[in-house]
Amino acid sequence: MPPIVVPARRLLSRLRTMMAGGNASLQAIVSIVAGEMVAEVCSAYALRAGEILELRATQGLNPQAIGHTRLRVGEGIIGLVAATGTLLNLADAQNHPAFAYRPETGEEAFASMLAVPVRRGGRTLGVLSVQNRVARHYTDLEVELLETVAMLLTDMLAGAGTDPREGFVGSLPRQFDAAMLSPGIVLGPILLHGAILAPERLLAEDPAAELARLQNALRVMRQGLDSLIETQRPVLSQDGGQAPHDILDATRAVAADDGWLKRVAEVIRSGLTAEAAVHRVAQDFRSRMRKIVDPYLRERLADLEDLAGRLLATLNGGDAVRGDAAGAILLVRRLGPAQLLDWHARGIAGVVIEEGSAGGHAAIVARALGLPAAGGARGAIDAAEAGDQAVLDADEGTLILRPDPSVRDAYERAMEARAMRSAAWATLRDAPSRTRDGVAFTLMMNAGLALELDQLATTGAEGIGLFRTEIAMMARGSVPDVAEQAAIYARVLDVAGDRPVLFRTLDLGSDKLLPESPRPEEENPAMGWRSLRVGLDRPAILRRQLRALLLAAGGRKLSIMFPMVATLSEFRQARGLLYAEAARVRPAPATLEIGTMLEVPALLWQMPELMAETDFISIGSNDLMQFIFAADRGTPALAERYDFLSMPMLRLVRSIVERAAEAKVSLSLCGEAASRPLDAAVLLAIGVNRLSMSASSLLVVKEALSNLDLGAFRLFLETLRRTAATYSSLREPIGAWARDHGVKI
Ligand code: PEP
Ligand code: MG
Repeated sequence: MPPIVVPARRLLSRLRTMMAGGNASLQAIVSIVAGEMVAEVCSAYALRAGEILELRATQGLNPQAIGHTRLRVGEGIIGLVAATGTLLNLADAQNHPAFAYRPETGEEAFASMLAVPVRRGGRTLGVLSVQNRVARHYTDLEVELLETVAMLLTDMLAGAGTDPREGFVGSLPRQFDAAMLSPGIVLGPILLHGAILAPERLLAEDPAAELARLQNALRVMRQGLDSLIETQRPVLSQDGGQAPHDILDATRAVAADDGWLKRVAEVIRSGLTAEAAVHRVAQDFRSRMRKIVDPYLRERLADLEDLAGRLLATLNGGDAVRGDAAGAILLVRRLGPAQLLDWHARGIAGVVIEEGSAGGHAAIVARALGLPAAGGARGAIDAAEAGDQAVLDADEGTLILRPDPSVRDAYERAMEARAMRSAAWATLRDAPSRTRDGVAFTLMMNAGLALELDQLATTGAEGIGLFRTEIAMMARGSVPDVAEQAAIYARVLDVAGDRPVLFRTLDLGSDKLLPESPRPEEENPAMGWRSLRVGLDRPAILRRQLRALLLAAGGRKLSIMFPMVATLSEFRQARGLLYAEAARVRPAPATLEIGTMLEVPALLWQMPELMAETDFISIGSNDLMQFIFAADRGTPALAERYDFLSMPMLRLVRSIVERAAEAKVSLSLCGEAASRPLDAAVLLAIGVNRLSMSASSLLVVKEALSNLDLGAFRLFLETLRRTAATYSSLREPIGAWARDHGVKI
């Protein structure tokens, strides 16, 4: 047994006895620590409002200094430890550049100092330190022991012994910048998934019993992992994809790795419960992770952190999540679309995905679910604690933890105003779609999941202008067989009834990947082997999908369009596959309309031929914009740089409108531009009168268009066209006109 074990156990056992007797005070604890660690000084500092650290208890420094000695976070060694959340082990503290002399403490007599942060859920609550006269470095075992005591102090520093009128920094608001993944505002408690939950019981009397609990929990956890891996294996085996296996096998290897488990066992032997020991070791992973930039190592440490979370959950006899999901804002590092669906079913009201981006799978599913979501918010997971109240304003890209009551009130009022507005929108639902001067337009919704279909009724959408077939597959993680696909599509047609549905064939690749598909090594995946290109090179999957669509129609009308068509020849090939399937499926659809998305610029110069062969065209403004401006749609730094409301885009769309009108081909637009009221108004003015958008935007757009005097607006745009051709964006003047003319945008 290592020599430190005995003193550590004696120290912890004295603390346990004192705590069990209910008479533990900070002062009593620092006295015991000083005595047992043979330190001349032991002091505890607590963080107060205003980022101030206050000396709350000391053995060895001048007792008069208690309650008086204060340091700002970042000031002095204590302040530095609080600011960085990292311990300092100094043989010559007085000559450390951060040393701040406080004469009232009398600490000039002490050369060496070990100061450790008292942390909970990534937040610093205070600092615990020991000092000695002689200049020396504290041993690893002493460091570990002081860190263990610091862990015991969290509750005391978070509440007891402080002025209740003053909050701690730990309870102060924090604001984080994020990127909008799915619009909306939500207020609710934070739910942390995968976070390491602080154990409730810290000290144990019987290390042998705790070791046995650890072994037992390990066995249960490993069995759980094995069966998870075995049940996933067949699903993951499709198409020979290797990557997911490697990940799961690596996870299992980490679970079996003795290194970190030995550390846990050592900590248990010093007198902690099994869960407190796992928690301690997991905290180490966390602080090591903060310093690591290498993505591979970060991944491995994150694996360890995940496993520690699992082990803790097993030790606690259940869920890795503390708190109720209903109405909560989920905070996670990563999230797959299927997991998001699960959480949605459990009732979350919003989600923040630290490593999420707008084009990512989970974001697409969040939008489909109408669930407010944001990506980024770096540091929020470390700063949040389960149950913290928070505001997620996805529209503005803001997450506020522990908001000030006045901020909360402001958001509550904003949400009430929205709810009232949406009640008013409901009356709009059944009103005819006409501008103020009587011009008709058609608003349809985009969809991709069965659970979105009820939005047809709630929004009054006149159809589904884009059914993204890949979304359901991303949500389940694989491509279903023909019968299952047919059932999905039939359901869509059943719910839509007489309303048209434009099914788009699989648009996978780039950022929309299935777990089992091999990750292609491409420099520019958005311009890579994706979408219809894959469908034509590997026609089996596309043919199965086309067959499923024909079967689903079962004699009803059917409209199918192809994504990312770049050449007329690709369109013809895809149509050829469809004809081949249509020849085999009975009953044949009542009508079969075959169209194309217009999102690759090359197609713009094949218009006359294309118009002669296609039944309809849907402009995919998201991709078209990114290719026209050579600006990746997923790059946040470019998001504001190029505008749909700009001369190049408007001239382009106008020319498509003219070509389509000449050829009498039905034209619609289904990209994000349709969801923005101002852009929708301009589109209508230049002749795109069929717009398909996310369901959550439909009535907002309808309200704006219904208020629009289209004739006057067209005259204004004509003048603008002549005077502002060189502007890089026309949004400002068009927006000003709309506001002046009572159009809500
Ligand atoms: C588009 O590109 O505008 C479009 C609607 O398709 P997606 O957003 O699915 O790429
Ligand atoms: Mg697209």
